[in-house]
Amino acid sequence: MRVRNWNVSVSSLALIVVATSLVLPVMGGDSKAAPSASYDPVTDQRLLQPAAGDWLMFRRTYDGQGYSPLDQVNTKNIKDLVPVWTFSTGVTAGHEAAPVVNGGILFVTAAYNKLFALDAKTGSMLWRYDRDVPEKALGEICCDVVNRGVALYGDKVYMGTLDAHLVALDARTGHVVWDTKVADYQNGYVITSAPLIVKGKVVTGVAGGEYGIRGFIEAFNAETGQSVWKTHSIPGPGNPGHESWAAGDAWKTGGGATWLTGTYDAQQNLIFWGVGNPGPWAGDVRPGDDLYTDSTLALDADSGQIRLHYQYTPHDLWDYDGVNEAVLVDIDRQGHRVKGWINANRNGYFYLLDRTSAQFIYGEPFASPTTFTGLDPKTGRPNVDPSKSPEDKKVDTCPAFLGGKNWMPISFSPATGYAYVSSNHWCMTISDLPGKYEAGKMYVRADFEMHPAHPDYIGEFQAIDVATGKKMWSKKYEAPLWAGALSTAGSLVFTGTLTDRDFTAFNAKTGDVLWKFRTNSGIVGVPVTYTVDGVQYVAVLSGFGGAIPLWAGPIHEKLTKSIPQGGVLWVFALKK
Ligand code: CA
Repeated sequence: MRVRNWNVSVSSLALIVVATSLVLPVMGGDSKAAPSASYDPVTDQRLLQPAAGDWLMFRRTYDGQGYSPLDQVNTKNIKDLVPVWTFSTGVTAGHEAAPVVNGGILFVTAAYNKLFALDAKTGSMLWRYDRDVPEKALGEICCDVVNRGVALYGDKVYMGTLDAHLVALDARTGHVVWDTKVADYQNGYVITSAPLIVKGKVVTGVAGGEYGIRGFIEAFNAETGQSVWKTHSIPGPGNPGHESWAAGDAWKTGGGATWLTGTYDAQQNLIFWGVGNPGPWAGDVRPGDDLYTDSTLALDADSGQIRLHYQYTPHDLWDYDGVNEAVLVDIDRQGHRVKGWINANRNGYFYLLDRTSAQFIYGEPFASPTTFTGLDPKTGRPNVDPSKSPEDKKVDTCPAFLGGKNWMPISFSPATGYAYVSSNHWCMTISDLPGKYEAGKMYVRADFEMHPAHPDYIGEFQAIDVATGKKMWSKKYEAPLWAGALSTAGSLVFTGTLTDRDFTAFNAKTGDVLWKFRTNSGIVGVPVTYTVDGVQYVAVLSGFGGAIPLWAGPIHEKLTKSIPQGGVLWVFALKK
């Protein structure tokens, strides 16, 4: 099938929909064990400075580093790490969540907006919430029915949903406290990522960049679910950046989905949030830079006003969906302290920028990019190779639309100064197709097919020295990578792989593989670590799915199609 693999995905999703509606009744808040009376409410202070043993948000800390100060499990004893309990989610789609842990209670989501509260030490289930997602909403999701996790604040748990709602549940019981509609799923909007809590507000973005949505970031009162502010990622008439859109209505369906969780700099009171690709991929209806697609925005946390922005790929024609996370780092570079952010971008370049000014510092290729001949050394603006523009011809270029790095979060270790990146080296043929916008329908207008960039590998797990942008070590894999990374003060880095189903620990400094464990399925989850009663645990979801089976075409057929499926949370600790 040369025209989009989407045709395949529609039929497979239709099968899933039937199964879902039969098997999963609405259970919202069914309690199995006695609710925990000792639940420790999550405060702003705890979010700003979490105890070493807690993992209170998607990447543990506001800077998005995915780094833990725990070192009980370390390079010396990692060989004694063994599974201590597991938990089966009962579904077989993609499991991309990071568990979050507050004082010994672990919250983890599975595909279809299932949410489980578990005893983090024993695995006993405290309660579960199964959202009754409308069948029609499940059919409008580009990249599998995933959910990437929850946010915690006060005595509540917050989850974005596949029908584009935000729901607040009582953390002790799972009972729904409020349920707010964020956008209309019938127009292609969904929510797949964890919200971000900032000073009493629940901040969320939306997915739907392949459906001609107009993206936004919105903040809600954590107590009531009422909207506090809403900022569009595609500026309307009269707003700065609107002039980067051609005259006419293209901006109204211009994409700019905001589908990953942002980060927060408390000192500047700025929320950093990624914005995805313009819609449609074909650029004929939107000559210009198409702000703020493929950008990082810095928003005032109180008002939502845009204070800074940086656009990685102006006038994107390749789905270089620049939503990738901005990880906040303070590093020494060439004798100066840099308050920066780093971004391993879909376009195949790894960036360091100044987070006080959005000034470009460097962008280094990390995933065999060929679409650009390079970046402007002062501004970072890419120089597009005209032979790689699909506006008037079929081209073969790299990276493919799934990107040098997709959604799976990188980790930054302040101990090594390295960023750990699950990267992919793949290319595509792509040409534009004609077509018109129809509400709620795919609005891509491209014909494409993926292939590996190199004969012997696609995935490469890389350690990049953030001070220089240079690769320090890496390990290559024949299949793509789709799991997040975790680094720890034990000088360890964890991530998961697909075809071999391994959960692997590397020496953070040298890249030596120190330990691995074969799980039930390919890993597309985000590992975390926490303590209960003085014991350090490491947890990861295994359960293959996500965008690869739906979009990677021949690569999926050849490399990942036979991976067994089913979601299981694995929790490890040192042998006693
Ligand atoms: Ca996209």
